Amino acid sequence: MKEKLIEFNNVSFAYEADEEAPSEKKEALSGVSLDIFKGEFLAVLGHNGSGKSTLAKLCNAIFEPTQGTVSVKGIIPDTEEKADEVRRTVGMVFQNPDNQIVATIVEDDVAFGPENLGIEPKEIRRRVDEALKAVNMYDLRHREPHKLSGGQKQRVAIAGVIAMQTECIIFDEPTAMLDPKGREEVMQTIIRLNKELGITIVLITHFMDEAVQADRIAVMNKGRIIMQGTPREVFSQEEKLSECGLDLPQSTELCRRLGIKDTVLNVRECVEKITSMLGGAV
Ligand code: ADP
Ligand code: MG
Repeated sequence: MKEKLIEFNNVSFAYEADEEAPSEKKEALSGVSLDIFKGEFLAVLGHNGSGKSTLAKLCNAIFEPTQGTVSVKGIIPDTEEKADEVRRTVGMVFQNPDNQIVATIVEDDVAFGPENLGIEPKEIRRRVDEALKAVNMYDLRHREPHKLSGGQKQRVAIAGVIAMQTECIIFDEPTAMLDPKGREEVMQTIIRLNKELGITIVLITHFMDEAVQADRIAVMNKGRIIMQGTPREVFSQEEKLSECGLDLPQSTELCRRLGIKDTVLNVRECVEKITSMLGGAV
């Protein structure tokens, strides 16, 4: 039986209405129910404005639901102590690494989170080294963050969360501002955290080729979750995805256009299908 880590139970959330247009108050999330299981890698897809970042901020008690409940390990963060407990369990990595880096030396930046938790210095040293190794940035620990590439900076930000030893990390479009190389570095890091350290991952992304690598995908549209399933289940529903403005991964799209019925998810599967279509002639 899979153990639930985060549980959304019929959650709605509305931002405070704009003073100039008070009647415009609309729900950013409406009746969302979603289980996030311990150890899984869940991707969340959805068009701009579909409610993904709002969902992320409800996971670690930045926001409180207008209706329904969000619980983390069974804890509903309705007091400051419980909210702190939730934040020690669920960490967040945002889109822009420049907004997340606070110190002028890489290793000091990674130490910032555990320092705030009141961890003793020797233990901080151990955690910082371990976290920097986990994101492949240990050799650059004495560098100045502003001189690093976007992908390297984002990996420093990830190390900062790892050093707090949260069980779950929510990544809100962590690769959106990176070049292809930085994107690949960050994706490899995320996968390693999940597979090797067993950290539960929620990856919010608009890159289909990233979502394909998750165990499970939830698709959002207009504040609701409209689909949940394995990547193969989700990407076999081309029409439903296109209705909410989402594309297929490139390999999936190519095979679909070639008239291949099975849903293909990556280059390897695509090559296999085309090879067998050509009677193994290539
Ligand atoms: P996504 O991350 O999928 O792009 P968001 O969760 O940021 O979506 O936004 C969901 C909805 O809430 C959108 O309609 C957006 O305009 C609105 N929204 C987001 N942030 C705020 C805010 N701070 N104040 C008012 N409305 C907001
Ligand atoms: Mg967002």
